[in-house]
Amino acid sequence: MTNLVTNLAAAVEEHGANTAVGFQGSETSYEEFWGQTGAFATALEERGIEADDRVAIYLPNVPPFLIAFHGTLRMGGTVVPMNPQYKAREIGHLLGDSEAKVVVALADLVPFVTEVQDETSVEHIVSVGGDAEGATEFTEFLEPGDPDIADRADDDVAVQPYTSGTTGQPKGVQLTHENLASNANAASELIPDGIRSDDKQLGVLPLFHIYGMTVVMNSTLFHGGAYYPMPEWDAQKAISLIEDEELTLMHGVPAMYNDVINQPNAEEFDLSSVRLCGVGGSGIPVEVLRRFEELYEPTVYEGYGLTETSPITHFNSPVEGRRVGSIGKTVPGVDSRVVTDDFEDVPPVEEGPIDEDEADLDEITGEIVVSGPNVMKGYYGLPEANEEAFTERDGKRWFHTGDLGYRDEDGFFYVVDREKHMIVTGGYNVYPREVEELLFEHEAVADVAVAGIPDERRGETVKAFIVPTPDAEITEDEIREYCLTNLAEYKHPREVEFVEELPRTTTGKVQKFKLREQDDAETEAE
Ligand code: ATP
Repeated sequence: MTNLVTNLAAAVEEHGANTAVGFQGSETSYEEFWGQTGAFATALEERGIEADDRVAIYLPNVPPFLIAFHGTLRMGGTVVPMNPQYKAREIGHLLGDSEAKVVVALADLVPFVTEVQDETSVEHIVSVGGDAEGATEFTEFLEPGDPDIADRADDDVAVQPYTSGTTGQPKGVQLTHENLASNANAASELIPDGIRSDDKQLGVLPLFHIYGMTVVMNSTLFHGGAYYPMPEWDAQKAISLIEDEELTLMHGVPAMYNDVINQPNAEEFDLSSVRLCGVGGSGIPVEVLRRFEELYEPTVYEGYGLTETSPITHFNSPVEGRRVGSIGKTVPGVDSRVVTDDFEDVPPVEEGPIDEDEADLDEITGEIVVSGPNVMKGYYGLPEANEEAFTERDGKRWFHTGDLGYRDEDGFFYVVDREKHMIVTGGYNVYPREVEELLFEHEAVADVAVAGIPDERRGETVKAFIVPTPDAEITEDEIREYCLTNLAEYKHPREVEFVEELPRTTTGKVQKFKLREQDDAETEAE
């Protein structure tokens, strides 16, 4: 029997007086936090909510998110985290699909819930503060209580996050207590001396997303450390928080690291208190990594994973040594392979990363598949999607990540790109990430995304969308020329567009489908 929240209870036992959460200058100790989760769990029980009932959390990164999350797990419920940027239509799907009975929402977001409530099973709306900055307290609902931690079977679902829907309707990902607990244990083995009770973590990754949700548990709350949530990403504010509170851990997506180095006063930031930086969610361009490390010196460790894998499956662990450009080795307890469409193993290269321009990527690349206790129980109520997502082989259940990659003989893995982002132009395969990596090396480029756009003759054409650095004087022709000098001709972007910013999800991923739609609309208008 596992209940994830047992890990938190152990930290409360050992480090009760430590700060668990710091928000806007006030601090909550582990003992106080445990009391708050008890009050929340009690309030749910008093309203007839039972084990396995779903509680949706519709909040930005504010302390009540953590209280509702752990309070729900404590009484045996299942958490359904929802992106606070979603509007009524989007949450309508999530609430309907998950059959949530309770929604914990920022007061400002409650109207979206009431708009769709009739079409859902929602019985109670619990509101929190007003706007994100003021959202430190529940506006109703909490009486003291100290219920026992509910017994849960390993395969009971603890959290059901939704995919972001870039591949169709968002799918509910059933993550069990065992999935998340196994990932928490694996994560703590990857850091030298583990995570410490005096660690202080910057909380800029959104808590509704698997990466932010699990690093707060795995990197602080299960170890007696302190977590400092920020409701919105703002590079200047994040750095001030690190400096003022002397934070020791930072986790972010590549777009955040890129944002920091592109600040006009980037050279003045003091990140000397940070002992460890983690990055994941999408591949960090090598050039961004290099510049960040040159400026601030903490080493950045890249990890890889998916919502469906709780999330981490590969990590460039400081314990094992790091290889820049790699997502690292498979984490303990997880298996991974690189396979062809027929599920045959693709042989490893001798030592990576290989020079992508020299190598025939198609030869060494396959799909990364993973198996282990961290892999989701399945998508909720979607038998066909589950059929597609898994292959049973050699007594194991392999999950298809949809990512193309290769591995080397030392066990390091490399993500080439997402399968659905690959561009097929005139019969050639182009991996946008390779072109993006090159463009990041150009001093006039602050941010870039490469995507395939429809082309009658070639099927697709490579197009680069570039955010130039503030004083850059550069032309589209010069960019094309630069790529032609450094890449095979078929890979160079035949089209280049300068843009002010790139459309991104809250987790920093470029929404390439939006770039394509935008491009389509512009072509039609011409
Ligand atoms: P959807 O599945 O709906 O598109 P999503 O992309 O938001 O949603 P996540 O589970 O957040 O889903 O992201 C998982 C994907 O993120 C991986 O499949 C991979 O493409 C990418 N990713 C995560 N970490 C890395 C990394 N270190 N390097 C390259 N890609 C990464």
